[in-house]
Amino acid sequence: MKTIGLIGGMSWESSVEYYRIINETVKEKLGGLHSSKCLMYSVDFHEIEVLQHQDKWEELTVMMIDAGEKLKSGGADFIVICTNTMHKMAEDIEKAVGLKVLHIAEATGEEIIKSNIKKVGLIGTKFTMEGDFYKKVLKDKYNIDVIIPRAEDREIIHNVIYDELCKGEINSESKEKYKKIISKLAENGAEGIVLGCTEIPLLIKQQDVNIKIFDTTTIHGISAVEFALSDI
Ligand code: GLU
Repeated sequence: MKTIGLIGGMSWESSVEYYRIINETVKEKLGGLHSSKCLMYSVDFHEIEVLQHQDKWEELTVMMIDAGEKLKSGGADFIVICTNTMHKMAEDIEKAVGLKVLHIAEATGEEIIKSNIKKVGLIGTKFTMEGDFYKKVLKDKYNIDVIIPRAEDREIIHNVIYDELCKGEINSESKEKYKKIISKLAENGAEGIVLGCTEIPLLIKQQDVNIKIFDTTTIHGISAVEFALSDI
């Protein structure tokens, strides 16, 4: 079993989920008392969030590389970045640290094509919805078209993530707002919805909506275990 190096704390509300999903998956696959060999380097999300909103991505890249190097020196065999947004610098981390970064959008793309879905709606932080780094992986590697909510709705999605979900607040009014936005994406042709922020699955579950959802936290956690147990 390879040792998974998790860059966590963005936010810790979802890092906890990663730890649980990864260990549950190892238990399911290997049985008995098996559990995951992993390390987590967990950042102070306040520092991260401030720099994100100041558009200081280079400083953030340096911090992520530093976290990756700490994991490598602790014995990690590969890296899992426990957030969609911070995959903005996934390639830089992989190059600088010299360990494979198991990309969350690739894991999600693999899952989407299994369902034969060609067009998805993407919800996540504004950085993820509006930037190219995530949509490009889905389009270029998997030929999946991605649509995003309109500006006003993106604002709602983004603010709920930072003001509520990353603080562990699960609010039923916000859930209703998300459900409406998801319905609009479906009306605009989305055949599935990518919950492209690792905290959104705390708010939206499959039973809440009539469209197939792709929970990136679960998908990424399971793919980390599959990679850890593979011969690759
Ligand atoms: N966890 C979130 C994500 O998956 C947002 C927090 C962050 O900005 O990293 O994008």
